[in-house]
Amino acid sequence: ELYNKVLELKGNIRVFCRCRPLKSEEVAAGALMTIDFDSAKDGELTVMSNGLPKKTFKFDAVFGPQANQADVFEDTASFASSVLDGYNVCIFAYGQTGTGKTFTMEGTEEDRGVNFRTLEQLFRMIKEREKLFRYDVSVSVLEVYNEQIQDLLVSDSQPGVAAKRLEIRQAGEGLHHVPGLVEANVHNMSEVWEVLQTGSNARAVGSTNANEHSSRSHCIHCVMVKGENLLNGECTKSKLWLVDLAGSERIAKTEVQGERLKETQNINKSLSALGDVISALATKSPHIPFRNSKLTHLLQDSLGGDSKTLMFVQISPNENDLGETICSLNFASRVR
Ligand code: ADP
Ligand code: MG
Repeated sequence: ELYNKVLELKGNIRVFCRCRPLKSEEVAAGALMTIDFDSAKDGELTVMSNGLPKKTFKFDAVFGPQANQADVFEDTASFASSVLDGYNVCIFAYGQTGTGKTFTMEGTEEDRGVNFRTLEQLFRMIKEREKLFRYDVSVSVLEVYNEQIQDLLVSDSQPGVAAKRLEIRQAGEGLHHVPGLVEANVHNMSEVWEVLQTGSNARAVGSTNANEHSSRSHCIHCVMVKGENLLNGECTKSKLWLVDLAGSERIAKTEVQGERLKETQNINKSLSALGDVISALATKSPHIPFRNSKLTHLLQDSLGGDSKTLMFVQISPNENDLGETICSLNFASRVR
């Protein structure tokens, strides 16, 4: 009974922490490691400052610099089966720019990340279940930038031409949707890869500085799964959201002006709205403030209830990044 209680309190929110390795430039510059994984217990890490332990954090899993994409996916794979079982799932990557959010979610062509691996697992399981279930899978790729939603599967983003503005509508309880958003039907992994590439390329095209732009917007993949039980005709409908969040670094308002200031305010607003929603869900608060940002509004039906949430908090091992690292770890502790 006690065990059940613990599970219930823990709810459906998991937090994994991943720390990237030091880069060769950092090693060359004599950077110090600010994270100690070794002396802490499993699932813990200790932040060091001037060689002394400063604070210990505990998460559902901790991945140090040696962990590879397959190690990370091993603990993530079960979310794919949840989706096929009819649960909504949200997977987020949170953290300062340059800590590996995109590496964890998108990965590289040779070393693919959670997005590709989760979809691969989904199709593997669909094949295993094909005698009992029929599934229909489609994918949307969108971006939230400055509190505006943009479809990354629409190729109308010519320079200078404003893209069509998309809005969130509600057709009933649990039925939030974005009219006009492209949903690409996919039947196998080569079609999935094509869609992921189209989205990734569209993100790079519309901006003069692709890296900077991508660190200031939320990139979202939504995988919609319809299932039919071939024995009893029962149907399920579920969504898997894969979200590469905008960089969480704090930028002093005195340092930025105009368009950049608005961007910064919108990022702060949406990341704190996300933190507020997840911690309200974790503490079973009666009021969940979904409407405070486009991101939480968009994901409303897939956060809370019996949905499952996984947050990767990405950190840098470099002592120079200590301030941001502590902020990210505090954020992640709050939602846990
Ligand atoms: P972010 O999306 O958070 O801004 P990136 O994913 O672009 O960060 O990562 C920054 C750089 O660090 C990239 O060159 C990336 O390949 C590298 N990197 C990040 N995490 C890892 C890791 N765990 N192992 C190896 N390289 C990594
Ligand atoms: Mg990135």
